[in-house]
Amino acid sequence: MIEKIVEKSLNDKELSEKEIKDLFKVPVFSKQSSLLLWAARKKSAQVSNGFAEVHAQIGLNITPCPQNCLFCSFAARNKVFTDSFELSIDDAVFQARQFEAEKANAIYLMTTANYSFEKFIETSKEIRRALKRDTVLVANIGDFTLVQAQELKHVGFSGIYHAVRLGENHDTCILVEKRLETMRNAQEAGLLVGTCVEPVGIEHSIDELVEKTIITRDIKPVYSGAARRILIPGTKLAKYDIVSESKMALILAIVRLSLSSTVKGNCTHEPNVVGACAGANLLWAEVGSNPRDIIKDTEKKRGMSVQDCISILKEAEWSVLDGPSQLYATSL
Ligand code: SF4
Repeated sequence: MIEKIVEKSLNDKELSEKEIKDLFKVPVFSKQSSLLLWAARKKSAQVSNGFAEVHAQIGLNITPCPQNCLFCSFAARNKVFTDSFELSIDDAVFQARQFEAEKANAIYLMTTANYSFEKFIETSKEIRRALKRDTVLVANIGDFTLVQAQELKHVGFSGIYHAVRLGENHDTCILVEKRLETMRNAQEAGLLVGTCVEPVGIEHSIDELVEKTIITRDIKPVYSGAARRILIPGTKLAKYDIVSESKMALILAIVRLSLSSTVKGNCTHEPNVVGACAGANLLWAEVGSNPRDIIKDTEKKRGMSVQDCISILKEAEWSVLDGPSQLYATSL
């Protein structure tokens, strides 16, 4: 049965909800799981012509966020950060140039959900001006309106990263519909959307993994994938063990197989070799603030560098794209 579903996916036929559920029931380290890892890697390499990408994110600010996502170190109720901090425009520009020099395929600007949109636009304009014309910029911010999406496009963003997270509206104060509306606004404004099944915890049911996988498929993103939740000490969700990289590799492989070949990217976070072997062709480097970290400069703790990500992809036998992201390829 699993063989038939794999064949269907490799022939680029849409999998049913039940078929995706059957894939999620496959145990890790089984004969069938090996088949899923093989097939996902094959599909991933085929659709991306064998190239993987490294995107690099600059976290612009830290402030207690009222959206209170339980998995995020910025959530006010998690009390990890009680003070606010903002990267200066000069430092943000310096870091963006640095990422460009290190050959990141795309540069993301990330803020907490309650960061001023006007300030974000102001900073983004400066960064856009400082970068080469074909350097790809991606916004990773809170929910926004259609008019704001048009403004992001006008400033020179190619796309956004956004997701309906696991536990949305249960572990967060945001409605699923709000997240979906933001992605529709972005697409209507001509921005491409990257997304992911995240943050995966051991308590999430197969039904929820299936539901979120299908949501990422319905969005028609440029990439999906899977990322695990990082344990933030002292918070409510810290009682759960972290999902192993081996299990995550299987999950991201299933997400890859559940999406059509028009979706070229399959991401995982945090970067790891086993995930890249299983078909993840997009990894992230990070500097500045990071919702999975407990210090303000993540490059000193959890955040990996562009070179770290390139090395991981090479260990997994990927060729790394040299040049602007093909996932977010669009005419500016
Ligand atoms: S994930 Fe985003 S919306 Fe949620 S608490 Fe963190 S910054 Fe706020």
